[in-house]
Amino acid sequence: MVMRMSTLFLRTLREDPADAEVPSHKLLVRAGYIRRIAAGIYSWLPLGKLVLDNVAAIVRAEMDAIGGQEVLLPALLPREPYELSRRWYDYGPEMFRLQDRRGADYCLGPTHEEMMTLLVKGEYSSYKDLPLTLYQIQTKYRDERRPRSGIIRGREFVMKDSYSFNLDDADQQRSYDDHRRAYARIFDRLGLDYRIVAAMSGAMGGSRSEEFLAPAAAGEDTFVSCPNGDYAANVEAAEAAPPSPRDQADSADPVADAPPMEDLHTPGVPGIDAVVEHLNTRSGGAMSAADMLKTILVKVDGAPVAVLVPGDRDVHEERFAAALTPAVVELFDEADFAARPDLVRGYAGPQGMAGRGVRVLADVRVAPGSAWVTGANVADHHVRYAVAGRDFVADGTVDVATVAAGDPCPRCGAPLEFGRAIEIGHIFQLGRKYTTALDLRVSGADGTLTTVTMGSYGVGVSRAIAAVAEQTADAAGLCWPAAIAPADVHVVAVGKKEQPAAAERLAAELEAAGVRVLLDDRGLSAGVAFADADLIGVPTIVIVGKSLVDGEVEVKDRRSGDRRRVPLADAVAELSSVGEPGRR
Ligand code: ATP
Ligand code: MG
Repeated sequence: MVMRMSTLFLRTLREDPADAEVPSHKLLVRAGYIRRIAAGIYSWLPLGKLVLDNVAAIVRAEMDAIGGQEVLLPALLPREPYELSRRWYDYGPEMFRLQDRRGADYCLGPTHEEMMTLLVKGEYSSYKDLPLTLYQIQTKYRDERRPRSGIIRGREFVMKDSYSFNLDDADQQRSYDDHRRAYARIFDRLGLDYRIVAAMSGAMGGSRSEEFLAPAAAGEDTFVSCPNGDYAANVEAAEAAPPSPRDQADSADPVADAPPMEDLHTPGVPGIDAVVEHLNTRSGGAMSAADMLKTILVKVDGAPVAVLVPGDRDVHEERFAAALTPAVVELFDEADFAARPDLVRGYAGPQGMAGRGVRVLADVRVAPGSAWVTGANVADHHVRYAVAGRDFVADGTVDVATVAAGDPCPRCGAPLEFGRAIEIGHIFQLGRKYTTALDLRVSGADGTLTTVTMGSYGVGVSRAIAAVAEQTADAAGLCWPAAIAPADVHVVAVGKKEQPAAAERLAAELEAAGVRVLLDDRGLSAGVAFADADLIGVPTIVIVGKSLVDGEVEVKDRRSGDRRRVPLADAVAELSSVGEPGRR
């Protein structure tokens, strides 16, 4: 059926919506693909629904190709399974919760590990049943702290989530690799530029995890990548390179060679930058924040811990929490400092912490033998030449300092580059967290019971649409790749003579040839019709206008802007190849 703009439920807007900050949000609203209902909650209008379905069809085809079986679970879920996995508590305020008329607790599913595990447990009991991959394309709910950027971060959004159930780790690795390849094919077909980066597993539990990131200025994720292609990681997961020579000081045996630790009077300058400035102006030195050692006091399950990172860096909170999980990490607050006068706020240093009953965790960048300026544990005093291993000893090493552009690649040492990106997919090796909590075991060949191991894999179906828009739109509007465009050809009739009837005929013939057509039969001025065609972003625009007197139509490529004249008689043959093969 030809889609006619005269009756299509569509109103394009000339103005950007007031709440939109990023291009995809502005354009998807202006071009009539989505409409806002509430913060992070959108309706899909006809053009948007077509794109959503096209993306879902590609995801479905590639999941089927790796043997995934589609199911559909409810979004409204009872509390108990989430209680058994503890996510009822761990998920925190992001989980939408509600009660039924009897006062029983429910949630709106943020992901479905628990329910899928229980589903499999209900049906399967033998090793012969595995491996198994189940997936669904479904609406998810998360009460995001900052729902913004339109459908990039919705509170209601569409996700493809799949779950693999495997007998052992080697089998799990195969399912993971299958998903990794399927995701690459999905994002290739969507026309996305993307990177696969190392990711943090976070609250999901589990070990290996990678994200698929679509570079875009509007993205909320930051990743580092090596210009040689050796390494790429979300900053949350970026590994430190082995300590640089600078950290190990100039001499072969810095511990023996460094001058003795020395007290510095630094009145009223508790901050790193203030100390650096104070010391440089007094001694004419060229010290930088990187020469300072930050000593950050935290509580780990209530017990005091000093975390050490170079002064030009911070502790990456999520990474630190992940390193210590399941322990609960909190920063020292007013009351903690008040209770511990021996831990001087702004002047803390690692020396003598053991005697104070404080554990010291040093970032890997604080290499043995490196010398630092740090707090003296006395108000208004710092020390210099505090040498790791000589003047203080760490109880443990952690990789928790923030990475910075120019840091060496952990594989080859080249300076890392920073980029912004949108996370479009995420694959996890989950392990046995959920199968243990919910007791999913199968009997082996010898009759013994084995706890199943799992993987979980997500694609942001709705978010991917915004990512494509971010990467392909131009000043005039959206610019869809053929694979997901709401139509293959946008036929625009301009003129009141033969043109409307000729456009109708052409549209009907194209449809008959398998090309999906959006027909602008509104009879509006050329300026308005062309502006709308550019805004809507169908890849090929055919103008049935003035040139019709010569028996020709104009064919415009939306992306390049190239125009050429084609005899009307040849148009169907020429255009029948522009559609996405196999979509219909
Ligand atoms: P983010 O870090 O962006 O919050 P996440 O790590 O919470 O993402 P997952 O739980 O791994 O995301 O979900 C799988 C996929 O679902 C993500 O890769 C992303 O593409 C998509 N997604 C997650 N949250 C949202 C959201 N609020 N709106 C739209 N898509 C989302
Ligand atoms: Mg999230």
